[in-house]
Amino acid sequence: MEQGQTNSDLISNGWFMEKNKQWSGQAFSLEVEKVLEVKQSEFQDIMVFQSKNHGNVLVLDGVIQCTEFDEYCYQEMLAHLALNSHPNPEKVLIIGGGDGGIARECAKHPKVKSVTQCEIDGDVVALSKKYLPSMASGFESPKMNLNIGDGFAFMEKHQNEFDIVISDTSDPVGPAERLFSENYYKLVHAALKEDGILSVQGECMFLHANLIRNLLDFCNGLFAKAAYATSYVPTYPCGQIGYVLASKNAHTNFKKPAIVFNEDEKEKIGFRYYDEEIHENAFVLPRAFKKILAGT
Ligand code: SAM
Repeated sequence: MEQGQTNSDLISNGWFMEKNKQWSGQAFSLEVEKVLEVKQSEFQDIMVFQSKNHGNVLVLDGVIQCTEFDEYCYQEMLAHLALNSHPNPEKVLIIGGGDGGIARECAKHPKVKSVTQCEIDGDVVALSKKYLPSMASGFESPKMNLNIGDGFAFMEKHQNEFDIVISDTSDPVGPAERLFSENYYKLVHAALKEDGILSVQGECMFLHANLIRNLLDFCNGLFAKAAYATSYVPTYPCGQIGYVLASKNAHTNFKKPAIVFNEDEKEKIGFRYYDEEIHENAFVLPRAFKKILAGT
């Protein structure tokens, strides 16, 4: 989105076109049935529209955050890659995640006892409850404790407390820019218990390979180990998004889940994307991208 533009400016002739400097020269489009709400919050420009074939869509500062059509791909992977890499993920902290989808995934995990969430923008939560109820259902769980405030300030007060921290952020522009800084990762590291695991939205390998390499290099220095996993999400740029996983425990093997569910359990949890086979294969990466990550 250009400076001075609003979300509404990206709709033309009944189509929302996700033009953005972060992926210059390309733009994914969705046909718009009806704009449901437009709101300038204290932090960002928010829009929810009903699309023709992809359900309701949440847009923040010109960028699609989630659609009812394919949100499960992202939410299940960001949450369950981390939860199931830990033998006992009882206490979870989510930073961001205002649509509620990550909270929903964490709350339904049988080993998770409490889910604390810190989202800076109460308007994102309110609009998600109104227009994205299947995601915002996460907020209704008795395991949930939602705080509206800055993730930085929250973590400064909560150290050595969580088994899992999930950073469900928008891209590194706007209010989420600081959530990609070194200071942020140091705070996450301190918020985690000694064998804790971090899962963070890790951007698209086709568009942001250098950012991902820098993030991984930094996490490999700060944590005992770090890795990048990938999944399809058709309505994200290039149809691909990654997840950076980092563990304080040198024995964590991200490629072999510590928790594996039987078929009945998988049905009960309601997985649509995630299972142990997807988990193991999510770390298999294309050759060209592996070379960039290795710096060769
Ligand atoms: N899954 C989607 C994606 O990756 O595009 C959605 C991410 S979720 C909507 C991102 C949320 O992070 C936003 O609601 C935003 O308000 C929140 N956020 C940004 N900066 C934050 C901060 N410093 N502390 C807490 N939440 C923050």
